[in-house]
Amino acid sequence: MNLANKIPVGVLGATGSVGQKFIQLLEEHPYFELIEIAASDRSAGKQYKDAVNWILSTPIPEKIAQLQVKQCDSAFSARILFSGLDASVAGEIESTLAGRGHIIVSNSKNHRWDADVPLLIPEVNHGHLALLKHQNYGKGAIITNPNCSTIGLAVALKPLHDAFGLEQVNVVTMQALSGAGYPGVSSLDIIDNVVPFIGGEEEKLETEPKKIFGKYANGIIELADFKISAQTNRVAVLDGHLETVQVTLREKASPEAIIEAWKNFRSLPQELDLPLAPLQPVHYFTEERYPQPRLHRNLDKGMATSVGRLRRCNLFDYKFVILSHNTVRGAAGGSILGAELLAGTGNIM
Ligand code: NAP
Repeated sequence: MNLANKIPVGVLGATGSVGQKFIQLLEEHPYFELIEIAASDRSAGKQYKDAVNWILSTPIPEKIAQLQVKQCDSAFSARILFSGLDASVAGEIESTLAGRGHIIVSNSKNHRWDADVPLLIPEVNHGHLALLKHQNYGKGAIITNPNCSTIGLAVALKPLHDAFGLEQVNVVTMQALSGAGYPGVSSLDIIDNVVPFIGGEEEKLETEPKKIFGKYANGIIELADFKISAQTNRVAVLDGHLETVQVTLREKASPEAIIEAWKNFRSLPQELDLPLAPLQPVHYFTEERYPQPRLHRNLDKGMATSVGRLRRCNLFDYKFVILSHNTVRGAAGGSILGAELLAGTGNIM
């Protein structure tokens, strides 16, 4: 794709934690040109630099700093609208804008379980894009990202599911503060503390992988039938969700075969050489103290899933640790990769 043909895109919820990450990752993007941003009535009408409390370590891109923030019910020119909207408003705004012909790539939970909406992780279930032809949004469409803690888990499980089959999964998460948006968890709640509850998160982890790993046929996703149990905790880490995982596999597998499956895993985004595709989706560490959020969350543009500590389990077959960047791979980066996949597979007319 050459620079003259860049696809115009916008960001809904541009002032939020995920919205800011979109703006950072879209700067100088080879396929996409960010032309429009929108947020709530509190921000609409202001220049972006005056509306946002910018919390990222790189400066606001100069051109975006000057842009006026739109209301979400405005008319947009962008072909693709990335959404980092609060879930209390995302559902209706996204349906309306898809109906007006925009392709919505959303991080919010509202449309994840719509029967005709892909719950997309480009490396894991790109075949589910076939659902798009069953949507009734005319030239528009909706695709969604799974929950941020589900994404890293699903990327790590995919090579095991393909090679050996999954029977049971148990996962315990230690989730970063940025996952709660801004301002998120009060400092008095989280300093010197761990909060052993994140509203709605365990349910998402226990159900979303079943759609992601489901089989597509004739416009329908047949849910995968393995069992998942999840426990979720908020910890005092800025970015990067760490998860300890136990699995029982349908076929016997040696530790060496599992590590080989992770190391050799490549998928369509790598074949198409998409700009945000990690070169190696799963990075296995042999060092026994790795992966760690502060050290490894930015691996391979923040898009890799780091895995380590594979060992036999007394209850399940194996246990291991995974780490995934929640606002990059688990939100804005994952959505942009999804849109790159749409562009790379001719799904944007
Ligand atoms: P956030 O920091 O609270 O940002 C929410 C955004 O929604 C802001 O731009 C806000 O605009 C806008 N908004 C709020 N009420 C609105 C309204 N009535 N009309 C229009 N816009 C409105 O939240 P976040 O962490 O970025 O998360 C955004 C979405 O992504 C959520 O659905 C979340 O569950 C999901 N998600 C988050 C993560 C993560 O790691 N943070 C990962 C995956 C998915 P104003 O600033 O103008 O209020």
